[in-house]
Order: sequence, then structure tokens, then C-alpha cells
Amino acid sequence: MLKDTFNREHDYLRISLTDKCNLRCSYCNPVDLPKGYFAHSDKMTAEEIDTIAGIFVQLGIKKIRLTGGEPLVRKDAKKIIRLLSKYPVELTITTNGVFADEFIQDFKQAGIRSVNVSLDSLDKEKNKAISGRDEFDRIFQNINLLLKNNFQVKINTVVMRNVNDDEIPRFVAWTKLEKVHVRFIEFMPFSGNAWSKEKVFSYDEMLKLISLNHNFIKLPDERYDTTKKYAIPGHKGTFAIISTMSHPFCSGCNRLRLTTDGKMKNCLFSKTETDILGALRKGYDIVPLIKQCVWEKEEMQGGQFISRYEQLDSSKINNRSMINIGG
Ligand code: SAM
Repeated sequence: MLKDTFNREHDYLRISLTDKCNLRCSYCNPVDLPKGYFAHSDKMTAEEIDTIAGIFVQLGIKKIRLTGGEPLVRKDAKKIIRLLSKYPVELTITTNGVFADEFIQDFKQAGIRSVNVSLDSLDKEKNKAISGRDEFDRIFQNINLLLKNNFQVKINTVVMRNVNDDEIPRFVAWTKLEKVHVRFIEFMPFSGNAWSKEKVFSYDEMLKLISLNHNFIKLPDERYDTTKKYAIPGHKGTFAIISTMSHPFCSGCNRLRLTTDGKMKNCLFSKTETDILGALRKGYDIVPLIKQCVWEKEEMQGGQFISRYEQLDSSKINNRSMINIGG
């Protein structure tokens, strides 16, 4: 079991398949972000992902999420999904949904039961403005296709003040009709995404807004939950809030990350990275490196947010852009 100095057990690995994405979401992959994609030779091959994942599984990983960039734009995504399906883990994926229809059978064959789809607006034009691409119809059709095929569908919605906070009631109304689990995510700072504290629409504000129209019930937290989940009587779906900025949940964190260029991050906000791929290619044993990386995990938010988010100077944060980490 991968334990850190705070006795947190880590059994969840998120693997970024690529730093490329077909969308240009303002908060993640803005149009003006210098692209500088990793060279193909610097990225983990499908076989290397398989080898590294296998070693993590031996060390106690029980859940693997494929992410990116957009994982489904990687040419050999289907092969990777197939390779990882042999491990005794819960295999899941986070996608923008644009290509999900091409993967339904692959997901099923790999035992993927739950798919997270990012969608920041239920308004076609606003969605285009936020994501930089006109893909709303395809994403929405694919969400319905996933539901029809009995996948659990979680919707990731990054809420930004004066951008899409006014859509929260519409997303909540959607959960009445469809068995979707909407997760409102507080806007987080990453390199190049023009974060400011003013744009954070906080957990408390979200709950207050939803309470204007609904009575909701808090659902029990699971051991490693990052979300605070709620149900509204009579609704088929649920809603949840990921309150990274206003109410961080680091004490129960069980997550580790592997970037597409094979660097291990022990936290989304970690300043340091461990070069797992470089070591593997040199023929070294990567187990001690993985254990050391976990051991060095900071108590909270990579040791970068030492104050409340309202006092945060985002220019001092030392990290990659979200698209380069893998969300
Ligand atoms: N391309 C896939 C997608 O769109 O879901 C996977 C990668 S994306 C980086 C993973 C998740 O990170 C998405 O749900 C996205 O909304 C979230 N995300 C990206 N940047 C964020 C930010 N600045 N604050 C909060 N969430 C963010």
C-alpha cells in the first residue's frame, strides 16, 4: 500500500494519455496558451503505460482514471483501454464527450461502467464561447447515448462567476429528468488560465443559489470523496460540489497522477515531479521512486496554497497548465 507521512493510503491513479485536446476551454487549454506539445518520443507508449500501470496495481492501486488532454483523441486510445482492462481495478475515464460514440463498445468490453463528461453550459452558444469549439450538439447526443447504454454519467461543470454561474439552476433542473450526476467544480488556478479569486463561485454560494428553488438532502460521503453529494427528492439524478478552493479535501486524498510524458505527481498542485518514464527507459526499478514520491506528498495542495484562496497570488504558483497535467 502506498502511504505518505500523513498516513494517507493511495489507491487511485489518474493517467494522462495525451496533452492534446480538440477543445480550447478557457480555464484549461486557452487559445493563447503556448502549445509546445510533448514530442511523440517523450510520451509514454501504450506498452509503457501498461507496464507502469501494472506496477502501480502491484503497489495497491484499485482505481485508474484515463484523462488528458482529451484521452479519446489519442490514436491508440482503444488499445490502451484494452490493455488496462486486464487489471483488477475500477477503470474509468474523463472525456469531453465529443468522440464518446466511437468508444461505446470499447468501454463496455473493458468493463468501464462510469464515464465523466465535461460540460460547462447547457446553452449551445455559451458552450461554444467557453470551449472555443461548436461541439455542444455532439456532446449532448453522446451523453444521451451513454445513458441509453446504462453507463453512470457524471457531468463535470467548472463554475466561473459571471461566465456560467447563472446556469447552475438549469443543470440542477436537468437532474430531475435524467439520471445524470452533475458535479459543480470550483475554478482552480493553473498556469496560463487567468484565474482570479473574483471568478471563483464558491461552494457556499452554489448551495445558497440551489436552495432558492430546491430542498436537498446531503448524501453520505465515501471514504475518499472529493465531492459533497446531494439529492433532491423526485429527481432521477444528483448534484455534487467539488470545493477545492473554498473547502479543500486534502486530508482524505488517495490520488496520484501520471502525466503523458511519464512524470508522477503526488498532488494536482505539486511543484515537484518524479520521472518514472525516464527511469523505466533506463531499466531502473521504478518501485522505490513511486514510494518516495508518495512519501514526499505535502499535507495540503502541494504546499502551494498556504492561505485561503482569497489571499492567493496565482502568479506565484509553480505548476503546469491543467492540460499538461491531466485533470
Ligand atoms: N478532456 C477531458 C475533459 O474535458 O473532461 C479530460 C481532461 S480535463 C483537464 C479534466 C477535468 O478537469 C475536466 O472536467 C475539466 O473541467 C477540469 N478542469 C480543467 N481545468 C480546470 C480548472 N481550472 N478548474 C477546475 N477544473 C478544471
